[in-house]
Amino acid sequence: MASVKLKKGRDKSLLRKHPWIFSGAIDSVKDIKQNGETVQIFSADRKFLGYGSYSEHSQITIRVLSYDVNDKIDLDFFNQRVKRAIELRKNFINTNTTNAYRIINAESDFLPGLIVDQYADFLVCQFLSVGAEFWKKEIVEILSTTIKPEGIFERSDVEVREKEGLRQVKGILWGKEPPDLVEVIENNNRFLVNIKHGHKTGFYLDQRDNRNLLSQFSNSKEVLNCFSYTGGFSVYALKGGAKKIINVDSSAEALALSEKNLSLNGFKSLDYENIQNDVFKYLRKLRDENKQLDVIILDPPKFAESASQIEKASRGYKDINLLAMKLLRKNGVLFTFSCSGHITQELFSKIIADAANDSGKEVNILRYLTQAIDHTIITNFPEGLYLKGIVCTVR
Ligand code: SAH
Repeated sequence: MASVKLKKGRDKSLLRKHPWIFSGAIDSVKDIKQNGETVQIFSADRKFLGYGSYSEHSQITIRVLSYDVNDKIDLDFFNQRVKRAIELRKNFINTNTTNAYRIINAESDFLPGLIVDQYADFLVCQFLSVGAEFWKKEIVEILSTTIKPEGIFERSDVEVREKEGLRQVKGILWGKEPPDLVEVIENNNRFLVNIKHGHKTGFYLDQRDNRNLLSQFSNSKEVLNCFSYTGGFSVYALKGGAKKIINVDSSAEALALSEKNLSLNGFKSLDYENIQNDVFKYLRKLRDENKQLDVIILDPPKFAESASQIEKASRGYKDINLLAMKLLRKNGVLFTFSCSGHITQELFSKIIADAANDSGKEVNILRYLTQAIDHTIITNFPEGLYLKGIVCTVR
């Protein structure tokens, strides 16, 4: 079997069961024939540390699959891992009221580089590393036999694949092609999801629990949903009794689908307004018109794609949060998020504090939020936490 020896002292993170080995930690490689194949990992003094997938082109050269020398990395190994992930979610996802959720969350389910989301009768997969790609056929076989969906669709059309030397791909992997819009339920709210062309795997499943919380703050309120995408937060706000919603998004397509989703849940065009605009501009426009609101949601796309963008991203977050705080009526509520992995919870809190200071308002934090419950994080992989949110009242 192919093997890799680490440099002296570079086994520390592995002994703490962190699943990534960077190229700089590797001393030598032996007998590797195929990119993505499984290697045995040894310390400088030849102690067995684990099995992992080898990726020739990535900075993350090895993603660890197992720390147990007795494991055999084969179809049955992946079968057990998939079963474990499904079983875990049975404890906290009520499939009678929610049939769209993440089944496999990559490293955090001990299946590095593999994302699998379920949308009613369809599964959507992302193979984000060479290692995951290497086992694609087996994984599709396991998913089709254990879950028995109508179809499995691949959405590996993401840039990170290129860091692994892989092409971006999408298409049917197994079974039926999903229709253009798949209807799902989320906490008994109905949504149409565009699996084939939507963001990520189609829907922001990671905001499910936060959307639920929003409904508790919405009764009789005028709510501004910034970066509204297909109206996830808006449906929950209206279900919570909101008086009026304003959706703002730069994408006409996303707004069109949010209209469908709002009407699917029984809401009329009088209940909401759809604005196709840049949020940075629109918030300034509202400021200039002296508009005031009760609740504002800020759920922007990732502003920091890499560590070098942290500063610029921080300015962007501060800008929209400052504007939003100024637009809120007395005791208004702000739901604000950052999904940039490079912006830590600590930094995000500091940005919010800076915005609060500059707004001249008194801001009380009510909740710190994170990604939904099915987007689990293993203790040894803090990188798994990417979504940070803060709910605050503004006076
Ligand atoms: N809150 C949503 C997800 C938001 S995703 C949900 O729960 O489903 C981010 C959205 O921001 C996308 O729909 C994208 O079209 C939009 N967007 C990106 N940059 C924007 C900008 N500068 N102004 C307005 N919308 C923007």
